[in-house]
Amino acid sequence: MAVALIVAAGRGERLGSGRPKALVMLSGRPMLEWSVDALRSVPAVTRIVIALPEGELGAAPEGTIGVVGGSTRSESVRAALAAAPAAEVVIVHDAARPLTPPGLFERTLAELEGHECDAVIAAVRVSDTIKEVGDDGRTVCATLERSRLWAVQTPQVFRRRALERALQAPAAVLAAATDDAWLVEQAAGVVRVAESEPGNIKVTSPADLRIAEMLMAERLTGTAP
Ligand code: C5P
Repeated sequence: MAVALIVAAGRGERLGSGRPKALVMLSGRPMLEWSVDALRSVPAVTRIVIALPEGELGAAPEGTIGVVGGSTRSESVRAALAAAPAAEVVIVHDAARPLTPPGLFERTLAELEGHECDAVIAAVRVSDTIKEVGDDGRTVCATLERSRLWAVQTPQVFRRRALERALQAPAAVLAAATDDAWLVEQAAGVVRVAESEPGNIKVTSPADLRIAEMLMAERLTGTAP
């Protein structure tokens, strides 16, 4: 059995909507609610805890647990985990990924169940060539081997003990973390990738929101390819 943590406490300044990103409307509902629906249809999920911005606890849908998030993503995960009832497995998901299908949650959970590892993260193979630049921010210093590169998304699923240990990292490490699996790696944990799909986009910019609206409309009208 698993508890799901949805991190929804970001301000979403890059979206420029003047509202917390998770509460911006997408296809007629606050973005957050699409992830809640998907998680509700996953049989292994016993409880959903949502980290929300201060003053927005009322946005937690009925039957979920709302908590106030922190000033960094990791602090929001930590706050949600502290409020989560007992469960061996923890799913962490960004409210900013409203298009995640229930099957992707189930695949990542099955991968964790079937392997000796601490975490499984949804990810897609990289199609662009990725270069690293030096200290001047422009001069290329390395070209990474594309066949080994994966772009990481959420859901990320963890054995609870591994996530709790990883979140004990110093504040500076927590603040630098852009995903929770990296914290598990820092604590010498074993992390596997599960193949996801490019349509599981993260809404960051107004252009992403338009793309998400299109993909959601295709799904709702049954015209998705
Ligand atoms: O900013 P970014 O899009 O990377 O945030 C990813 C997710 O983390 C979003 O769903 C956002 O609401 C959440 N977040 C949070 N608390 C923060 C910062 C981000 O819950 N302090």
